Amino acid sequence: DVIVPCYNEESNLDNFYSRLKLTLDKIKLNYRIIFIDDGSQDKTWEKIIFLNKKDQKIIGIKLSRNFGHQSALKAGIDYADADYIFSLDADLQDPPELLEEMLSRMKTEGLNVVNAKRKKNNEKFFKKTTSYIFYYILNKISKTEISQQVSDFRLIDNKVLAKLKTIDENDLFFRGLIPWLGFKSDEVFFNRENRSRGETGWSI
Ligand code: UDP
Ligand code: MG
Repeated sequence: DVIVPCYNEESNLDNFYSRLKLTLDKIKLNYRIIFIDDGSQDKTWEKIIFLNKKDQKIIGIKLSRNFGHQSALKAGIDYADADYIFSLDADLQDPPELLEEMLSRMKTEGLNVVNAKRKKNNEKFFKKTTSYIFYYILNKISKTEISQQVSDFRLIDNKVLAKLKTIDENDLFFRGLIPWLGFKSDEVFFNRENRSRGETGWSI
C-alpha cells in the first residue's frame, strides 16, 4: 500500500501517478495507491476521483477539513492493510523510483523500516535553521535518536504498521514515534528536488 497525503496538489497528481505507477508495475507486487485529501481547497479531490475511474488500484480518502500532514498520514495508516507500506509526498520531492532500492534493502537485510535520507538540505535558510535547532534539542533531551534530514518518506513492514495503528495520539510525530518503537531500521540516500508544482502546505 502506498500512502500519499495531499493538500492542494491538483497540479502534481498526474505526473506523480505516472511516475509511481511505472515503479510499482516494475516491482510486480499487488498494490494500491491511497491518496488522502487533507481538506484541499483546489481540485485535488476531483483529480483523485478522476484517477480512480481510470485505475481501480487507486483509493481516495477525503478528510472533513485540513488536519495537517501527520493526521493525513495516520488516516492512510489506519486504512492500509499490506505487507509493505510506502509513504511519500505528492509534490515529487520524494522520488517514487527509490522504492525499488528501499524494498530490496528491506528484503535482503530483514529490515522493518527503511527511511530515505536526503543527501543535502536545500531548504531555505529559515526552515533549515529552525529545523536544525529543533532536532538538535530533541536529540539532546530524548533517548530516541531522530535522524536529521529524514522525513516521512519511508517504507515500513506489516509489523510496524500494526503497532502504528494502535497509536491514538492527537499530536502525531511519526519520525519520532517510529524510531521509538525500536524496530530494525536503516537508511537509503537520495537527492531531494524542489517541489514540482504548487506551494508548500506548511504555515510558519
Ligand atoms: N500536506 C498535507 N496536509 C497539509 C500540508 C501538506 O497533507 O496540511 C501534504 C502535501 O500535499 C505533501 C506533503 O504533505 O504531499 C508534504 O507537504 P509540503 O510539500 O507542503 O511540505 P514541504 O515539502 O514544503 O516540507
Ligand atoms: Mg514538499
